Amino acid sequence: MKRILFVTSEAHPLIKTGGLADVCGSLPKALAELSQDVRLIIPNYQALKTSESVRFLCSVRVDNRNVNILESRMPESHLTVWLVDYPTYFNYPGNPYVDELGEPWPNNAERFSLFCKIAVEVAMDRVHQDWKPDVVHCNDWQTGLVPALLSIEHNRPSTVFTIHNMAYQGLFPAETAATLNLPGQLWHPAGLEFHDMLSFIKGGLVYADFITTVSPTYALEIQTPEFGYGLEGLLDHRKEFLGGIINGIDLDQWDPKADAYIAQSYSATTLAKKQANKAELQRRFSLPIIDSVPLFGLIGRLVEQKGIDLILECLPEMAAMELQFVLLGSGDKDFEKQLQELAALYPDKIAITLGYDESLAHLIEAGADSFLMPSRFEPCGLNQMYSQRYGTLPIVRKTGGLADTVVDSLPETIADNTASGIVFSEASSGALLEAVKRTLMLYSFPKTWKKIQVNAMNKDFSWEQSAKQYLGLYENL
Ligand code: ADP
Repeated sequence: MKRILFVTSEAHPLIKTGGLADVCGSLPKALAELSQDVRLIIPNYQALKTSESVRFLCSVRVDNRNVNILESRMPESHLTVWLVDYPTYFNYPGNPYVDELGEPWPNNAERFSLFCKIAVEVAMDRVHQDWKPDVVHCNDWQTGLVPALLSIEHNRPSTVFTIHNMAYQGLFPAETAATLNLPGQLWHPAGLEFHDMLSFIKGGLVYADFITTVSPTYALEIQTPEFGYGLEGLLDHRKEFLGGIINGIDLDQWDPKADAYIAQSYSATTLAKKQANKAELQRRFSLPIIDSVPLFGLIGRLVEQKGIDLILECLPEMAAMELQFVLLGSGDKDFEKQLQELAALYPDKIAITLGYDESLAHLIEAGADSFLMPSRFEPCGLNQMYSQRYGTLPIVRKTGGLADTVVDSLPETIADNTASGIVFSEASSGALLEAVKRTLMLYSFPKTWKKIQVNAMNKDFSWEQSAKQYLGLYENL
């Protein structure tokens, strides 16, 4: 049995801004189910939701600050959660990283540096809990200083750093770095320094014993300039200690057989019942309630990564076709405005909801016929897996985890029952539009469509598979 300290800045259902939270909510639980001793450590944000009781565990002093550590549990689980409680830094409402206007909180470097330092105190058991982990598993830039700080400790646990998205690196001016009281020996170009800036993510990439990312294809892509953001050289240098493990999905949350958020449960053997969800989705979005019209869905952050610009370019032409399109998302204000304008122009075809809505996300997965995910890059992506589980065929661009989890519907893959969606290559609106047309064509053959739906629904995206691979990795460290 391994003792694993799981360090993260978000974990569903405590706090979530995206896929990172889904992974960090599920993987520790899946590891615990494999009989490992896992504890999760996370900042105690004001917006953090816990239904379990919280007790004071201990107090620790770093950088002349007294920080409390509270103990709770993951809702509906036995997993121990340690909350880093420092109200000056974490007792703000809303999003963990940005203010109401979407601007990063001005003291993010201080906030997450403190969080990392506390995680190190816990990892070295200087908090006297008689619990020292064998492995400290860190996630994304917010935790990047942990492997760096642990690298200079004696008798330290092993470290794993998982990249969920290379686009977010935690870069701060050197002057900010100077205020963080970091050990001087970490500050050099082969360390935390990146073009005169402090790079949190480099703490993970340089110093972790092993680096993982959330799909095998993305692990290769980030070693190239297109996806590496200037860190491709470092990643290539460390490639012996870099690998990809695809995320699972939480089947307790995402299963059309038992999903409290949807209008009608269904399975691969009762697919006809899916239609009730489509009708409810059309009703919710005030679209004509017609079963025969193919309904496309999209859920996600409205940022360039997700190919929202490609969608915007295609929508006028899509609106001329026999289809409907619903979108749930928030993000770039300019994208939001353009989407609103298109929805106003084509009220019978295009409908959008701006904002974050967990229950509506489930209804879209259940009610749509097809799910659009034309990402420019996608470390893993979860919605394409949810979609397959719900028999909602994903249209994806061939990149990262999308390439690893969706099998294009071609004559040979339809024949051998591996087809599970529609895949296109080029990041252009033309290629996306072709994929949409190909989807409409497939949809017009109900028997073939249903066959692909069943293939998709029967795929195994369980966390158990992924957790076993992580465990294998911990054992080899
Ligand atoms: P990323 O982590 O890049 O945002 P993923 O596909 O890995 O993308 O995960 C996104 C997760 O966040 C999914 O669970 C998705 O359903 C959810 N999500 C994103 N935007 C919204 C929204 N506006 N409302 C509800 N859920 C959302």
